[in-house]
Amino acid sequence: MTDLQDLQGLQGRKEELATNLGTVEERISAACATAGRKREDVTLIVVTKTYPASDVRLLAELGVRHVAENRDQDAAPKAADCADLPLTWHFVGQLQTNKVRSVVSYADLVQSVDRAKLVTALSKEAVRAERELGCLLQVALDAEDDGRGERGGIGPGAVEELAARVAEAPGLRLDGLMTVAPLTGAYGGRQQAAFERLMDLSTVLRAAHPAANMVSAGMSSDLEQAVAAGATHVRVGTAVLGVRPGLG
Ligand SMILES: *Cc1c(COP(=O)(O)O)cnc(C)c1O
Repeated sequence: MTDLQDLQGLQGRKEELATNLGTVEERISAACATAGRKREDVTLIVVTKTYPASDVRLLAELGVRHVAENRDQDAAPKAADCADLPLTWHFVGQLQTNKVRSVVSYADLVQSVDRAKLVTALSKEAVRAERELGCLLQVALDAEDDGRGERGGIGPGAVEELAARVAEAPGLRLDGLMTVAPLTGAYGGRQQAAFERLMDLSTVLRAAHPAANMVSAGMSSDLEQAVAAGATHVRVGTAVLGVRPGLG
């Protein structure tokens, strides 16, 4: 490709992303209006997983300030490429402790905190890097109260104890709760009920930890239900960037 073709390709992609962002923005605004909430009470996080750093750069030019990734292997080089941009990086994937040092080097928040061992590792690396890392506990609403979700996350009964661990851990800041609507189980197909359950858990959490007021819920297909339930952050990938090739 010539430089000119490159430039035209980027311009086309930017227009596409701008259109998609506009549509998502309208959906969030409409959902806020329906719920009687202020638009600024909901933050859009664009999930850029599987898409290149060039897209992250275009999104930043279009005013996006929060991006999320779910695999360290992809996220680390992308974040390095985009280190000059005014972005907050969220890590939302299942996290192995051997990836923690890398993730802590670029992530501002980890939304998928789901076990004590991970809290210990995140704390150690945040202290080492002299960073304060925001932490959300990932709640699996399809798990038994004290169980675990198939794709990570703690059962609702484990929130209080893990929250206390994060709150006490040096280098970590307890910011709130995150969930992915379950496909199966009691909440399968009932996204709004799932998100309302997460809100109830958030209310209990905030009684003990008032600053932990983030509620991250809702994706491309169910952001309206999340806003209706009271989510403060929605995580949108496909509706902004397009359908991901393969699993992501
Ligand atoms: C991929 C992903 C999203 C975004 O999903 P879309 O359906 O593409 O909007 C949100 N949250 C998590 C944890 C994800 O892994």
